[in-house]
Amino acid sequence: MKIIVTITPPTPNGDLHLGHLSGPFLSADVFARRMKQLGHDAIVVSYTDDYQSYLPRKTTPLLRKPFEYARLVREMMLQSMASAEIYLDYFMPSSRCDNFAQSAEHYYQLVQHQVHVQERKSFYCSSCDVYGYEGFGRTNCNWCGTSSDASQCEHCARMPDIDKIEHMTCMSCHQEMSEVTVPQHVWEIGQNYTDVAKEHKGISKRACLENYLEEALDNVQESWGITRPGDAGLELTCLDSKPLHTWFMGLAGYRSAVKTLLEQDPERGEFTQWWHPDTQLVHFLGYDCSYSHAVGYVSQQLHDKEGPGIGHFITNRFLKLDGDDFSTSRGHAIWIKDITSQYPADAVRLYTALNAPETEVANFSVKDFEHWYQTFFLSLVRSIRADWSVERADFVGYEPVFSQWEKNASLEEFSIAGMAKQLIAFSEALLITANPTREHWLKWAEMAAALCPVLSNEVQSRDKQNESTDLSS
Ligand SMILES: [Zn+2]
Ligand SMILES: [Zn+2]
Repeated sequence: MKIIVTITPPTPNGDLHLGHLSGPFLSADVFARRMKQLGHDAIVVSYTDDYQSYLPRKTTPLLRKPFEYARLVREMMLQSMASAEIYLDYFMPSSRCDNFAQSAEHYYQLVQHQVHVQERKSFYCSSCDVYGYEGFGRTNCNWCGTSSDASQCEHCARMPDIDKIEHMTCMSCHQEMSEVTVPQHVWEIGQNYTDVAKEHKGISKRACLENYLEEALDNVQESWGITRPGDAGLELTCLDSKPLHTWFMGLAGYRSAVKTLLEQDPERGEFTQWWHPDTQLVHFLGYDCSYSHAVGYVSQQLHDKEGPGIGHFITNRFLKLDGDDFSTSRGHAIWIKDITSQYPADAVRLYTALNAPETEVANFSVKDFEHWYQTFFLSLVRSIRADWSVERADFVGYEPVFSQWEKNASLEEFSIAGMAKQLIAFSEALLITANPTREHWLKWAEMAAALCPVLSNEVQSRDKQNESTDLSS
């Protein structure tokens, strides 16, 4: 089977930290490795979110050009991923990219008959000359009341209803923005929701997304302003050169990343073979991206007969660091590059997986990690590197561990936390066994291949060396 794995595009306004790793990045990598282990053909794509207004908000005070800065940050992100043994098939720079613009236009054309131009409420700061779109303005979500930008609530994942929002604070000067109206292309997207709900039926998903969809898809009158004058979006002539905002373009981003990858590496196959109804699409996304992915892109896909079906949506919640939200501005973050320069990538991967915020907010404690590393991980490495018994292994009693691991390593019940938990349970059992055998370690290497690729390879290559030494003696 062909599988396209996607990772929600990070904003290129700073390097990747542990929150990114514990969210979609590690999950997608582990999933793709597991699918390849099962013999499937999988490609993993993502891109830098260059049309996101958080990018100019970052680059303006730095006196830098947004797209040039995005290229620089992309290089940092690739290095961070590599330091955690994560290798995407393609991590596309989305600005000044013809395939990206062409794909964005493709999805717009498909839904154009549901789009009209309308004067709509917006917020504007005349001192800073910015509109209240995400990076530039902050308000309270009309659905749940928490602090949010106007695009996508990080807490409840609903799209705030601009007509119900009364106050917007400018993020540059912290003054109240004034209400204005702007002409916007508005997609009457709610008319698709009944069909979107049908598409989702029978597709396994985590409970929070299931509940979210039940509420969100009820709102069949919903409309989605897809252009935003003054925003950092992509200007297309088919939309009167008004900026098309980035949330509309995620599926376009994945599609064009696959297309560009296959143009650069034609041996992987043709684009039309990959971007095809028979291909399984699997999205890894933060829960706060539920609207765009599970509602917006599915509504686009309803009108597209050529691409893959709606696929699977594997959501994650936020990771906290020592009990507090990650904040790059306050310096409360752990950069992937820093932690992997102090600990083996496998240790970081396994511990991050074990504590991944899959269904609820989770916490990363530096102290607990250090303790786990010293007491568990290092003894595991020592045991792997000790002599192996060649006697027949006894696997009695391990079946529940193996079968739970199999479940968590499958598409339907995929969970890196579950995989890590079972791998650690098996490892701990081997650590207290007087004499783990070669067969035990080979089974361990099979289970660890996706989570701890370095140690798994070490076990397998040591086994091969032993074999060749046996043959030559
Ligand atoms: Zn909310
Ligand atoms: Zn301002």
